[in-house]
Amino acid sequence: MSPLFATPPENHLPRMLRVRDGLKDGLGRAITYLRVSVTEQCNLACVYCKPRTGVAERAQAPAMSRNEVVQLVKVFTSLGIRKVRLTGGEPLLRRDLETIIAGISPEVEGRVHLTTNGLHLARKARALRDAGLAGVNVSLDAADAASFAHLTGKNQLGKVLAGLEAARSVGLKTKLNAVVLRGWNEDQILPLTRLAQTGGFQVRFIEFMPYQGNGWGQDQFMPAAEILRTIQEGLGTDLEEEPVLGLEEGPARLFGIPGSTGKVGVISTLSADFCDRCNRVRLTSQGALKACLFGNQPVDLLEPLRNHATHDDLVRLIRQALTQKLDCHPMRTGGQPTFAQGMWQVGG
Ligand code: SAM
Repeated sequence: MSPLFATPPENHLPRMLRVRDGLKDGLGRAITYLRVSVTEQCNLACVYCKPRTGVAERAQAPAMSRNEVVQLVKVFTSLGIRKVRLTGGEPLLRRDLETIIAGISPEVEGRVHLTTNGLHLARKARALRDAGLAGVNVSLDAADAASFAHLTGKNQLGKVLAGLEAARSVGLKTKLNAVVLRGWNEDQILPLTRLAQTGGFQVRFIEFMPYQGNGWGQDQFMPAAEILRTIQEGLGTDLEEEPVLGLEEGPARLFGIPGSTGKVGVISTLSADFCDRCNRVRLTSQGALKACLFGNQPVDLLEPLRNHATHDDLVRLIRQALTQKLDCHPMRTGGQPTFAQGMWQVGG
């Protein structure tokens, strides 16, 4: 008996259907979210990110030009990438950031976001919004000036707070990210929560991850459950968990803060990872595709682009790289990841 709805052979599918079918990795996970590092250079030296020695000399100038970033992003969006986050290094150090955003924004219906340390945000927020930026995640690991300086190497908390206010006042969706390191800033969990409570912000606390040269150790690791307990004990109340959003909204478990529009979240990358649902890949500022933060050799897309690879050639390289995406990060099974690059190069 013939099926009720005959399925046309795959190569007869209309183009749009093939695009919507999208980008899948070797395990069938749909890849819809691209993080692009636009520079390795950074104006802070956060203790959890940069190698503890010899960093400044090793940050290379961005290899991808503005046009090359936009061209490569377009290849990804043609495959079904729906959201792009620009990161680094510090993306606000790129003078042509607004034109990069303006080139990408129409490709993802305005879903371009930025992760920044916020130092230059106060003077750039309006131009970024005008270029088509939808939102910013601002890294802020301390609410206290001395702790901020201790963690980042610069005494510039005030600039970041001004950046946050500027971003919000021009209508950018604004969230805070804080990496928690035991022995460094666990005493900042409550002050940052209070900042979210009084300012109506969303602050997400991120588990400290091992990465090249960042001195990660079990003794500095604070699991999300303990972070959450610290907040609840500090506020003297149980927090109510919000409904889970899709991974495009981020991997945080979110909780309302009583008496406030603010929210707190935890990102449990190690203690309860979300690898099974991972929807993201990364493009380094050198134009290489990194299928998994914790593994896989980067696959160079920039050289082929410069050597006039066709769209289909680049698609083949991307699909091939995704067949190698890890099923989960190696620490889940007690392994140790090996890193060829630092977090500031891959983009976090
Ligand atoms: N300069 C920008 C900033 O400070 O947000 C963007 C680059 S930073 C590498 C991007 C993200 O990576 C930040 O949210 C940061 O908190 C996160 N990150 C960096 N190193 C990390 C680590 N070892 N563990 C967890 N998150 C980390």
